Amino acid sequence: MNQAAPLSPIPFIDLGAQRRRIGAQMDEAILRVVNHGAYVMGPEVPALEKALGEFCGAKEVVSCASGDDALLLILMAKQLKPGDAVLCPAFTFASTASVIVRAGGTPVFIDVHAETFNADSRSLLQGIKSAKELGLNPVGVIPVDLFGQAADYDAIEPICAEHGLWMLSDAAQSFGGTYKQRKIGTIGFATATSFFPAKPLGAYGDGGAIFTDDADLAVVLRSLRIHGQNVEDKYNNLRVGMTGRLDTIQAAVLLQKLAIFQDEIEARNRIAARYNAGLADIVDVPVIPDGLVSTWAQYTIRLRGADRTEIAAKLKAQGIPTAIYYPKPLHQQTAYKPYPIAGNGLPVSDRLANEVLSLPMHPYLEDAVQDRIIDSLRSSLAG
Ligand SMILES: *Cc1c(COP(=O)(O)O)cnc(C)c1O
Repeated sequence: MNQAAPLSPIPFIDLGAQRRRIGAQMDEAILRVVNHGAYVMGPEVPALEKALGEFCGAKEVVSCASGDDALLLILMAKQLKPGDAVLCPAFTFASTASVIVRAGGTPVFIDVHAETFNADSRSLLQGIKSAKELGLNPVGVIPVDLFGQAADYDAIEPICAEHGLWMLSDAAQSFGGTYKQRKIGTIGFATATSFFPAKPLGAYGDGGAIFTDDADLAVVLRSLRIHGQNVEDKYNNLRVGMTGRLDTIQAAVLLQKLAIFQDEIEARNRIAARYNAGLADIVDVPVIPDGLVSTWAQYTIRLRGADRTEIAAKLKAQGIPTAIYYPKPLHQQTAYKPYPIAGNGLPVSDRLANEVLSLPMHPYLEDAVQDRIIDSLRSSLAG
């Protein structure tokens, strides 16, 4: 009788739970698009852009095909010149740096804070110096709001002002969050986000958006995302652009999800607080500075010297998936090794890559399931 049944596997992100909540409206919204037939730039696209602007307070919203395209379109509008350096953290997703290269610039990698995983302003200063020593011209910085938590903007903005750099916010993981009364989407000259399904606000496929208060920039971005077109004279392209539109069906999906997004952010914060309470004495739990609201794109702990491979294997054996974001910082990856770094090394990024472990996190994680995760991690660490 007491033979322990194998515990059912827990999903890392449970997209099905959200479907059970809004599936019916969602199906109707998708079917409306299928039936009206405006699959490209249909009415849901401007409706979503308007709703996103109302949600975060940005004056202009330009939706696009992915977070990667959002960053790239902004940098295309910036018209980087050879030798222009753009600083970004090494501990991030590849997209942050790849767009700099594709837009014609040179990424310069900087280090991050161990406690927040986000760009360290001291390393930014060092990176500006290193770039100049190499004969590069530092023009901008792309701070990343990693795992849903805003970067240290109060420290970064004055450095940008002093050194004449623009600041573009990579908010692919943090849209919906807040930085000291400022909503994500209103920081920097522009903000890019992603609607990849696993992001806090995810579509049923790829999607992204750009937020800015600069109306002239928005005109250029809207042109660039449709091949560089001239709105008045379609076949006299004004600039070299790309196919960067958001599909109408994805806009319809996102409109439904946006309606419950604030509620989901609150649920994510409640779940993160429960993790913190259950784990803070045995691992390093994420530190959210005062005045910030994270969207908890990931709940990432640091193991205090424990063998990560072994712990992850023990959890897996108990049906608990984990993930490593990111096992290799960009400056250690084959494609990005040729690019400069701040100073002589990025020791915190290197260390984090070996210590971090992300636990299941989504707004529908039930207390009992979360307790199972916490208990399993505690017993795995105990031996
Ligand atoms: C996901 C992500 C991107 C790219 O977004 P896609 O929609 O996948 O192209 C860029 N930067 C960061 C930090 C991300 O996490």
